[in-house]
Amino acid sequence: MFKQIRDILFSKSKVKRSLDTTLDAFDQKIYNLDSLIYPNEAADPRATFDRGLPVEQHSMASLTLNQTLQFAPTMFHTQRHSARSGRYYERSFVPTQHEVSPAFIEELEALAYRLGASDIKYVQIPGDSIFQGKGIPYKNAIGFTVNMDQANIETDPSFEAFHKVIDGYRALGRISNALTDLLRANGFAAYPGQSVGGLTDYVRIAELAGLGIIDYHGLLISPHDGARLRINVVYTNITNLPIVQENPHAWVHDFCAMCRKCVRKCPAEAIYQQPQEEESGHVQCIDSKKCLDYFTMNYGCAVCVAVCPFSHTSYEQIKQRFKGHPNAPKYMIPLEAVHPSIG
Ligand code: SF4
Ligand code: SF4
Repeated sequence: MFKQIRDILFSKSKVKRSLDTTLDAFDQKIYNLDSLIYPNEAADPRATFDRGLPVEQHSMASLTLNQTLQFAPTMFHTQRHSARSGRYYERSFVPTQHEVSPAFIEELEALAYRLGASDIKYVQIPGDSIFQGKGIPYKNAIGFTVNMDQANIETDPSFEAFHKVIDGYRALGRISNALTDLLRANGFAAYPGQSVGGLTDYVRIAELAGLGIIDYHGLLISPHDGARLRINVVYTNITNLPIVQENPHAWVHDFCAMCRKCVRKCPAEAIYQQPQEEESGHVQCIDSKKCLDYFTMNYGCAVCVAVCPFSHTSYEQIKQRFKGHPNAPKYMIPLEAVHPSIG
């Protein structure tokens, strides 16, 4: 197992199994299920990780022995949870229940928080948020976030910051598997999302669920963690999830329009001056090629997260200071473009 992890992640081996190939192998398991919901024509493909960069340019290929020893256990457990998530897709689970009680939701949320989730909400996934060529077992889903440690993110781009990001993926996998176990034990169908990759656009889904709002660097800003977070989902057959339609965080777009610190500080100049609306109605915030090249060469760069005011100052403090400011810039991102109708 360790050799496989090293081969995939450290890219030093002659075995050139890429991360995309590994993720695609997990995705193939969905075809074991009896039925799937497919993306609609407005769906985007999932971004690829493989940039065709020479191995020696990958920052993970030049870890010291000490860094490798620190990193290996985190990576091992991330992979272990990921493999376990994949096993839930080996056959269809036949549910005996399809409606939850408020008490069960409380139990579910308590479990998520106990295992380290920052927030948990519910959503119905629209067809344009399922990646092209993928499918999901149910469109109802539970979305949750975990926090990324501030002290480490501030050293970004660095090995320490990258290590914490991977630790976030480990936590996401552990929580999604535990929620799936609890749901299945109570008769509900449940399938965990993969913490890395995934079948759906987690950022868009998190925004639809009301966990936060997509900002200028294309990530989610949430009231709990600002920009320092990771997201995962669990797909479920539950038909009466407590879905809230309103997203109260739209004011952040106005703040971004004034701030643009991530645009100025991105070392790859990958963040657009203003998010660009595509023909599909989706909003593109970054030049993904520029970003991913730099990301691969610099320990999974997260400079845009590190410099974001929401990573240092609490959401409520910023909101209180900013909201109602007479010079607030005009709203710049059409809301309907980032809140696609559900269905
Ligand atoms: S750095 Fe500023 S512009 Fe960029 S996401 Fe954060 S608040 Fe928005
Ligand atoms: S991850 Fe790094 S390269 Fe990519 S947009 Fe953020 S700051 Fe720029």
